[in-house]
Amino acid sequence: MSDFCQKNISKLELFLQQNDHFVVTTHNNPDGDALGSSTAFCYFLHQMGKTCTLVLPDAPPESLSFLFYGDEPFSYFSLTDKALEAEQTILSAGALVCLDFNGLHRTKCGEFIRKATCPKLLIDHHLDPERENFDIVLSQTQISSACECVYQALMALPQISNQAELLPARTAYALMTGMTTDTNNFANSVYPSTLRMASALLEAGVDRDDIIQKIYFRYRENRLRAQGYILNEKLKISPEGVAYVVLSRAEMEKFDLQEGETEGFVNIPLSLDKVCMSILIREYPDRYRVSIRSKKGTSANMWARMCFNGGGHENASGGNLDRTLFADASQVEEYVKSAIAQFFAS
Ligand code: 5GP
Ligand code: MN
Repeated sequence: MSDFCQKNISKLELFLQQNDHFVVTTHNNPDGDALGSSTAFCYFLHQMGKTCTLVLPDAPPESLSFLFYGDEPFSYFSLTDKALEAEQTILSAGALVCLDFNGLHRTKCGEFIRKATCPKLLIDHHLDPERENFDIVLSQTQISSACECVYQALMALPQISNQAELLPARTAYALMTGMTTDTNNFANSVYPSTLRMASALLEAGVDRDDIIQKIYFRYRENRLRAQGYILNEKLKISPEGVAYVVLSRAEMEKFDLQEGETEGFVNIPLSLDKVCMSILIREYPDRYRVSIRSKKGTSANMWARMCFNGGGHENASGGNLDRTLFADASQVEEYVKSAIAQFFAS
């Protein structure tokens, strides 16, 4: 049975009616879907006359700063900037809205969320949500994005009753943005419902040209140069058709690659016929961050869980490697080679 049944929508309705002070939060290193769904929800709460604070585990990347206007009717900050305030805000919330993650391990705010005693709502599209940690769970995995989940939840509320034009304009814009980034601009995870949502939001007046301009036509030159370097010097392809790139801290610094500026790189090798899966690993001060994408028939999710302490979706997953286990990036490459062998042996 779908979580988006009338019984759960009624619970959502009560949750929204009975509380006044909301805290909205999402996953670490928030991406377009995380920030789109979170800001969309905050604007909706504001329209309902509620107060709301958006607590992000990490600051938004510059590439998505267009989702913030500077005159928000809600406050927002990140745990990395204000750890104590994040804890206090979450612990004193009247109600918590958690978006675009399936478990508390996906957010640095996890322990605070666990400790909070207020009602908690989860709206998400990842496999296996931790239902025990939330009072209401609206989870759907056969869907494009958390933004589409939020869209469906809001559209089902009586005050909207399927009229997208009744959503706040910035909610509609943010939902279209997150759905666009999570589908890689309608390349993956597109369902009939996704196109219906896009169509309704366009009809409601969302300026999709503006969104496309802001997401895909605003990069800095360094990103393009780094892309050239990666494709020419770094990309390796295993006989099994796994493309892999390990980027060291020094290389990221050489190209001044900021958070969000490597977005999309992991998809590029999938354009080759012989490639079934692509992995990009970036060195961070405390860990190696792993991004995996695969074509239908190869499970990025399984590989992420098996070898990279992660998970995600069937064809788009991520994870982490402990940095202290590797002397340098070349050792990580060796690990990737063994992980490829392990995956194809299983
Ligand atoms: P990305 O490559 O864009 O960072 O992540 C792609 C997807 O992988 C995310 O939407 C998320 O579902 C999943 N993911 C990323 N990092 C992790 C992680 O550390 N653990 C788990 N379980 N999933 C992750
Ligand atoms: Mn998402």
